[in-house]
Amino acid sequence: MIRNPAVRDLGRRLPTPVRRLAGRLVGGREHVPSGRTEGRLILMYHRVAIADSDPLELCVAPERFAEQLELLQSLGRIVPLGEIPRARSNGLTVAITFDDGYADNALAAAPLLEARDAPATVFVVAGAVGSGRAFWWDRLAGLVGLEQYWPLWDRLRVLPAERIEEELQALGPEPEADGRPLSEDELSTLAAGPVEVGAHTLTHPSLPALPTEARRREIAGSRERLEELVARPLDAFAYPYGDYDSATVRLVKRSGFRTACTIHENRLSRLSSSFLLPRYPVRDWPAEELERRLATWL
Ligand SMILES: [Zn+2]
Repeated sequence: MIRNPAVRDLGRRLPTPVRRLAGRLVGGREHVPSGRTEGRLILMYHRVAIADSDPLELCVAPERFAEQLELLQSLGRIVPLGEIPRARSNGLTVAITFDDGYADNALAAAPLLEARDAPATVFVVAGAVGSGRAFWWDRLAGLVGLEQYWPLWDRLRVLPAERIEEELQALGPEPEADGRPLSEDELSTLAAGPVEVGAHTLTHPSLPALPTEARRREIAGSRERLEELVARPLDAFAYPYGDYDSATVRLVKRSGFRTACTIHENRLSRLSSSFLLPRYPVRDWPAEELERRLATWL
C-alpha cells in the first residue's frame, strides 16, 4: 500500500478537493509527452479486481488489466524484474510488480499473465499470508469517509501493528473490508506460474520507524518465511509505503536480496541503484490512457 509521497505530503495540509487538484499539478510533468518511444519502466499494481468502492484506487479491473498487458506487449517487452536493471532498451521494456500479496493476484492476475506469457513480481506481506484478514488500510476505508482517511492513514502507518489495531477498534466494529491476502495454497500456485514472489516484510511497517533489530527481523524474517512457503530463493524486496533510509537499504542488501523497489516515480537510467528502483503506479485506466501516460513517463 503506497501513495505518491509528494501528494501525501500535501495531504497533510490540504482538504481533499485541493489535494486532488494538487496531485494533478504535482504530476504535471507527467502530462508532457517526452517524444521518446524507448526506455525502461517498472510498473506498480496492487489488485486485479472490481471492488464496490475503491477509495484507495488499488483495483484494476481484469478486462482493463488484460487490455494493458496487450498494449505493453504491442509497444515492447515485459521482462522479469531481475532483468530490467541490465536490460538493453530496444523499444519499451517494462517489468510488472504487485504490492502486498492480495488473493486476486493469484485468482485474477496470474491467469491473465500466464495467457500472455508475461512475467511479474508479487511483493508479499509474509505475515499476512493465510490470515484471511483484510489489511488495516482496507479496514480503515470501511470505518471512515475519504475526508478523514488520509490524515488518519498518515498518522497510523508509522505506529506499531498493535497500536494500529487499537486505533481501528476505537473507530468502530470490524467492517466488511474488500480484498484479502493470499492463502498459503494460493501463494504456492502463484509461485508455480510466471510470477516471481518478492518480500514486503512480515507486517508491513514503515521500516525507518523501527529499532534496528525489529527492522532486521521484518526484512530477513519475511525472506525466510516466504522462501519456506514457495520453496525457492527470493531475490526482490519492496519497501512498505516506499519508506526507507540508508540503514534500511543496508539491511536489505545484507539479507541477501538482489533488488529492492521504491515508489519514486521515474524511468530507469544507468544511474538507477538496484536497491532503489523507481516505479510508476498504474490505475484502472483503459489502454489509451495508459499509452498516454507511458509516453510521458519515458
Ligand atoms: Zn505495501
